Amino acid sequence: MKTIGLIGGMSWESTSDYYRIINTEMKKRVGGFNSAKIALYSVNFGEIEKLQCSGDWEGTSTFLIDAAQKVEKAGADFLLICTNTMHIIAEEVEESVNIPLIHIADATGEALITDGIKNVGLLGTSYTMEKDFYKGRLTEKYGLNVIVPDEKDRKIVNDLIYKELCLGIVKDSSRDEFDRVVSKLSSKGCEAVILGCTEIGILLKENSTIPLYDTTKIHATKAVDFSLSD
Ligand code: GLU
Repeated sequence: MKTIGLIGGMSWESTSDYYRIINTEMKKRVGGFNSAKIALYSVNFGEIEKLQCSGDWEGTSTFLIDAAQKVEKAGADFLLICTNTMHIIAEEVEESVNIPLIHIADATGEALITDGIKNVGLLGTSYTMEKDFYKGRLTEKYGLNVIVPDEKDRKIVNDLIYKELCLGIVKDSSRDEFDRVVSKLSSKGCEAVILGCTEIGILLKENSTIPLYDTTKIHATKAVDFSLSD
């Protein structure tokens, strides 16, 4: 069993899901008292969020490189960044360590391809929905047609993520909003929707009209696959 390295805390609400999913899946596969070997470094999201808001991605990179090196030193065999958004600087982080990085968009792209999905909706922070680091990777590497909500709905989704979900606030009215945006994506021709923010799955487990691909679950499960592979 390889040791899973996690850079978490973005937010800690979703990192606790990573921890739970990884150990639940490990127990299912290996059984008995077995649990996952994990080296976790949890950052202070307050520091990261400030830098995001001022567009200082280089500053965020300094924090995550430091975290990645600590995780490697703690004995991790490979690394996960437990947030979609911070994959903006995934390349810099990967280059700063000698262990492989499991990219969240790759894990998600592979799951979609396996299921034969071609047209997919994407929900996440504005950074994830609007910048190219995520959509571009899904399109170029996996040939997916990625559709995002219109500008007004992107703002609603982004606000719900940062003003509620990352602060541990879960409201039925916000679930209804997410459902509405998902249904709109479905009517635009999406066969499935990526929950491309690690907190959305806390609020939205499923939708009756269309399959949802929860990146937290997919990424965490991929970590277990990798940990148990030769
Ligand atoms: N966890 C979120 C994501 O998956 C958002 C928090 C962040 O800005 O990293 O994108």
